[in-house]
Amino acid sequence: MRIVIIGAGVGGCTSFLFLRKHLDAAQHTTKLYEGYPNPLTTSTIIGGGLGLAPNGLRTMYLLSERLPAKITADAFLGMYNTGSKARYGWPNVIVQRAVVHECILEEVVKADDGRGDVVFGRRVAKLEAVGLDGVTKISFEDGAEEEADLVIGADGLHSKVRDYVVGEHVEPEYYGLCGIGGFVPLSFIEPYIQHTKSPLVMTWGSTGFFGFSPVGTGRPSPSLSSPSLSSAPPSELKAMWWSIYASDTPPARTTPRSAIKSQLQRRFRGFEGAVPKIINSLCTEQPGVGDIIMLPRYKLPRYLKRWHRADGGAVLVGDAAHVAPPESGQGVSFAVEDAAAFSLLLAHHLSLSAVSEKEAAKRAAGDYSTLRKSRVESIITAAMKRVANKTEMGPWKRWIRDWIIWLLAAIMPESMNDGSFAYKVEEAVEAYLKVGIAPPP
Ligand SMILES: Cc1cc2nc3c(=O)[nH]c(=O)nc-3n(C[C@H](O)[C@H](O)[C@H](O)COP(=O)(O)OP(=O)(O)OC[C@H]3O[C@@H](n4cnc5c(N)ncnc54)[C@H](O)[C@@H]3O)c2cc1C
Repeated sequence: MRIVIIGAGVGGCTSFLFLRKHLDAAQHTTKLYEGYPNPLTTSTIIGGGLGLAPNGLRTMYLLSERLPAKITADAFLGMYNTGSKARYGWPNVIVQRAVVHECILEEVVKADDGRGDVVFGRRVAKLEAVGLDGVTKISFEDGAEEEADLVIGADGLHSKVRDYVVGEHVEPEYYGLCGIGGFVPLSFIEPYIQHTKSPLVMTWGSTGFFGFSPVGTGRPSPSLSSPSLSSAPPSELKAMWWSIYASDTPPARTTPRSAIKSQLQRRFRGFEGAVPKIINSLCTEQPGVGDIIMLPRYKLPRYLKRWHRADGGAVLVGDAAHVAPPESGQGVSFAVEDAAAFSLLLAHHLSLSAVSEKEAAKRAAGDYSTLRKSRVESIITAAMKRVANKTEMGPWKRWIRDWIIWLLAAIMPESMNDGSFAYKVEEAVEAYLKVGIAPPP
């Protein structure tokens, strides 16, 4: 079978690795195409920090023992209080997005082993069905063409494969919030993290959230329980900060720093310590300090009816299939689980001797949609309700919000997160194949 994966983000890279692990390479080819150049050979840095949940780290462990260990060491920024290593076997960490991607890409390059099946800088322009048996013609922007028996759409939020699967254009909707963040010298925050258990500090303001943490210096001890600052030269040490910026339209990269500064000043009025110090530095001339990363937030207008083409010729993984808000802390973990689930299901159906390759792909795609949709959509629906906590609110609403957060933290048992964090994708696939229904989300 000729399999082509489009997009080398977390979903595409882990799909490549899981397929290489579970399929016989002599019988099935797996190629991966990415529109941008390889980040391992460029200095492009995408994004700031993100939460990586225990279920995501655990699923990565199914790929390679060293991958989650490397990520939690090299990309570590901090740890959440919910989702302990003691309960789930893996911690709930905050990590540098770019470093996570690089760690996974290194595994991909190793798995490709110079065969040239991973191609960067080649962007897909169009997908068309050839005949009725699920073969797809892929046209690239550089004029090249290729046929595939199975396309895996891992091409993110603005997915072209999604339109091919759904049969019409699905336009993601911006919902008024933008993640923003940047870097400041570590000295800005150092006095305020001396006595904290974790070097990551998160604060809830009257109208939103502000977090800061050392970068690359808060590497955890092997037990992941007592992060310590390194002894690198003080002038090179940096801290990262991130927060929320609201605007009716997706803010441009050129949004004046003064506009961002005055909104943050209003949101975090009355705060003392590192928060005003960081905000006040935004219009400074100091090189690098005022640089801001902006990540506008989008959602899909509706849940997709299914994540695959009825002819079994294409499936969607990661953000191409579903867009989880950051409040879920699951976007990356979902992408890795999707990749694992589809690969296991495909390997299972291909192993049945009475089933053709085409039929195996069709069955795997259908099972995958049914198995994954219920879990992912129930977690996204719950998380979207929490998005409201980050929009500006009046004093009464704020007071109620703070009490609810306090109450939940005080009385809710850790097991309330089992649905998200204790999920074991390979067990879910096995159970599904036995009884034919998705386990309750
Ligand atoms: C502000 C913000 C905060 C977030 N916080 C968190 C968090 O705390 N925790 C968490 O788990 N998740 C978080 N997420 C979500 C998370 O980043 C995504 O869910 C995850 O990265 C999705 O991975 P992916 O591989 O599906 O898509 P992507 O990472 O978008 O990868 C898609 C790839 O496809 C490539 N591509 C696209 N079109 C083409 C084409 N035509 N041809 C070839 N290549 C193409 C792109 O260049 C890209 O490399 C956050 C997202 C945002 C915006």
